Amino acid sequence: MHLGHFSSARRLLRVPPLRRRTTRSIYLSAAQMTRAMTVTFLGTCSGGGPTESRNCSSLVVDCLGDGSLWMVDCAEGTTRQFDFQPADTPVRLKARSVSKLFITHMHADHTMGIIPMIRNVLFPPPVDPNTSFPTSPLPKIEIYGPAGIRLFVRSILKMTLTRTADKYVVHELLNADDVPTPCEPPELMHSSEVVGRDIRCSKDGFWRCFTQGKGTLGDVFVDAGPIVHRDPCLGYIFREPEAPGRKIVILGDTNDPSCIIPLCASPSLLIHEATDAHIPREILPNVRFTLRSFDTVLGNTLARGHSIPQMAGEFAKAVGAEKLVLNHIGGRFPAPRHGRDPRLNAIREIERQATEAWGSGRQAMAAWDYMRVAIPAPDTMLPPNQPVEQAMYADPHEGLVYVNQKKRKW
Ligand SMILES: [Zn+2]
Ligand SMILES: [Zn+2]
Repeated sequence: MHLGHFSSARRLLRVPPLRRRTTRSIYLSAAQMTRAMTVTFLGTCSGGGPTESRNCSSLVVDCLGDGSLWMVDCAEGTTRQFDFQPADTPVRLKARSVSKLFITHMHADHTMGIIPMIRNVLFPPPVDPNTSFPTSPLPKIEIYGPAGIRLFVRSILKMTLTRTADKYVVHELLNADDVPTPCEPPELMHSSEVVGRDIRCSKDGFWRCFTQGKGTLGDVFVDAGPIVHRDPCLGYIFREPEAPGRKIVILGDTNDPSCIIPLCASPSLLIHEATDAHIPREILPNVRFTLRSFDTVLGNTLARGHSIPQMAGEFAKAVGAEKLVLNHIGGRFPAPRHGRDPRLNAIREIERQATEAWGSGRQAMAAWDYMRVAIPAPDTMLPPNQPVEQAMYADPHEGLVYVNQKKRKW
């Protein structure tokens, strides 16, 4: 039996793909990790997915250091991604640690995992309805998103007859002319729902500091702003207001994020989509999609409201990003399984295109599921003779990972 038979048999049997070879992480030393903010990608595929190597959009940010996680987008299958974490991951993330969930837009590849996630976070009701169960009147998870997100969550929880002991809340980020989902009269709400805030944007169209948390180095504020996609879409900014604060910019799907620039100056990390890319024929001979011209790829990508790697690089240049990670990668670009995987060539080319347009001398990286990017606290940065780039952006595609700053073959 050759390998093709083997993998199709695995598909027929619905056996999860072999994941051993995808455990590529770049680690910092324990001292640096303690107070680092981290972003862990749980799903990096565009809406064409999920695929064998990538789930659809979701990531979690650990920016408070208190064990809680803030999630951005929640595609179908996101809860299960927590179970598939690589065995040797230094920090095992738990779905129940998600305390805030930020939704960029209503498209299915960003929202269809919200209900399973809520059901995992909220404690179920007691088996015997006569037992009193001590629950907090405060919501255990807060969801933020565009107009309609409250109705979406409420409707599905009602239609699936979901009961929970804990409470949840949905806050809508509303433009001037958006109609909020009402919480009055109370019968409209789900039995576990707490009245949410209708948060209107300011005159310049932004939502500044609409929520916050207490981090290891002080406060962490969250801002949001609109970006252009085929439907209303948001980008989120997590930032420490005290200088020299760290700033993480996470954009939803977009073909033009320029209107959010005022919120994005000099981010420590920019996460920008790159849904499609023109891959020249010589990079992947015999692969059909390389027959598409650059203009065809660009035209189709823009028409669908998405970006190519050069656009991500140009945006990183415009805002002065310190690091750039490409996300929402098209299904035709699977994540490489190992350093000699031929599919690596396309990923390297995608990164090269973004890196060239960025022009900062630093390397853009295309995300893969379970990739973790750490942003160390300013006072725990590496000494000057050990560049941060080396530790954080060593090329895992070469088959090397950094564990406590020591190179290790995988
Ligand atoms: Zn999408
Ligand atoms: Zn979309």
